[in-house]
Amino acid sequence: MGAVALITTAVVQNKPLPKNMKYGIVLDAGSSHTSVYIYEWPAEKENDTGVVQQIDACKVDGNGISSYAHDPPVAGLSLQKCMDKAREVIPEQQQRETPVYLGATAGMRLLRLNNATLADEVLSSVGSTLRSYPFEFQGARIITGQEEGAYGWITINYLLGNFLENSGWLGRLKQSATFGALDLGGASTQITFVSKKEIESQENSLHFRLYGKSYDVYTHSYLCYGKDQALRRQIAYTIPDANNSTILDPCFNSGYRRNTSTKDLYSSPCIAQQRISTAPSNIEIKGTGNYQLCKQKVEMIFNKTQCTYSQCSFNGIFQPNLEGEFGAFSAYYFVMDFLKLTNEKISLERVKEAVKTHCSRPWEEVLKEFPKIKEKYLSEYCFSGTYILSLLENGFGFNSENWKDISFLGKIKGSDAGWTLGYMLNLTNMIPAELPYSPPLSHG
Ligand code: AMP
Repeated sequence: MGAVALITTAVVQNKPLPKNMKYGIVLDAGSSHTSVYIYEWPAEKENDTGVVQQIDACKVDGNGISSYAHDPPVAGLSLQKCMDKAREVIPEQQQRETPVYLGATAGMRLLRLNNATLADEVLSSVGSTLRSYPFEFQGARIITGQEEGAYGWITINYLLGNFLENSGWLGRLKQSATFGALDLGGASTQITFVSKKEIESQENSLHFRLYGKSYDVYTHSYLCYGKDQALRRQIAYTIPDANNSTILDPCFNSGYRRNTSTKDLYSSPCIAQQRISTAPSNIEIKGTGNYQLCKQKVEMIFNKTQCTYSQCSFNGIFQPNLEGEFGAFSAYYFVMDFLKLTNEKISLERVKEAVKTHCSRPWEEVLKEFPKIKEKYLSEYCFSGTYILSLLENGFGFNSENWKDISFLGKIKGSDAGWTLGYMLNLTNMIPAELPYSPPLSHG
């Protein structure tokens, strides 16, 4: 009896204590859609790197919140399904102390440019929905392009474990290698990387102190260079005059047809300089599927002529030489994943060949092979592949040599690559500026 009692006690004692977990919710209100991310981490390890994990992601039905400008109250309602799910995922007793953040990106930056009142109405609509849940609502705002770039960079390096690598006394002497971040959305694109060279323009320069190390980071967000806005601009270049309403577009597969209204196309501030008053009200786009011609058309949106700095990417924006490895995510990943081009061993030349081959396929054949893929995405992979190549090569200066330094990343250790995690880590003060002191032989 005594022995049995002893064993039982041992079993009870060895049972791990229930983990004290914390939760956080971030809504990424992108230009094309909103996603709700739920993160979890052990309370006692808050300041360690790599402890925060994404435990759920919910894609909100419908388009991005900026698309509700004509009816702002519906923007808030659209979030309900995913927020109800968050209430199921997060333990009830933790909900009151779970922060909720909503960050809107370039779709809302564009709406604000068009009509600031409507943008405010959309934000207050989503804000009041989020306030109606039992979580700790922390605000709904439009984040800047600089923040979007910075938090994307923090997210991927946090998840890759780059901040604490080499954090021993020897490692502290040198700056640990970080990955640059390439983020492609629907309405803007961001490039962010550590640069040893002087950053000649203040607005592109960020300084971070993270876990006891300093980082000088270059970042730029190009509004209107997300892939959906770039496509609009590409189409707007060839709007015919009133007598003709058909465009032959090399960036769509041959046999593909799409109708679009000029009013809708012209509604974006990104097209401001391309509007022609004699345009017909409706246009029909007919694909011709030609990579070379598509590339030529796409390149028209990069202005490479003026630069007041020692060097520029395009449109007169300063960019130092590319340095180190890069992680490319969001639409970079979706498109390259579809085209089966995410393998790091594939050379730039082979990537171009693959995009060219995809562009030359008849639409009917593509549609037959991928009946389950949303037609909007499927019809645009020729354009998107061509645009990505053009942006990386002609825009940012990647070439056959450093192409191998780009990794196309969807998830890293189960969490989506994107700005949301970095945003939450920063706002909850989960990344300390200095390393917590731990004595060499501590029991802690
Ligand atoms: P945003 O909504 O601004 O974050 O941008 C996301 C971009 O990724 C948009 O251009 C979407 O069209 C695009 N996207 C999302 N999912 C896919 C997919 N499966 N294939 C291709 N593009 C996608």
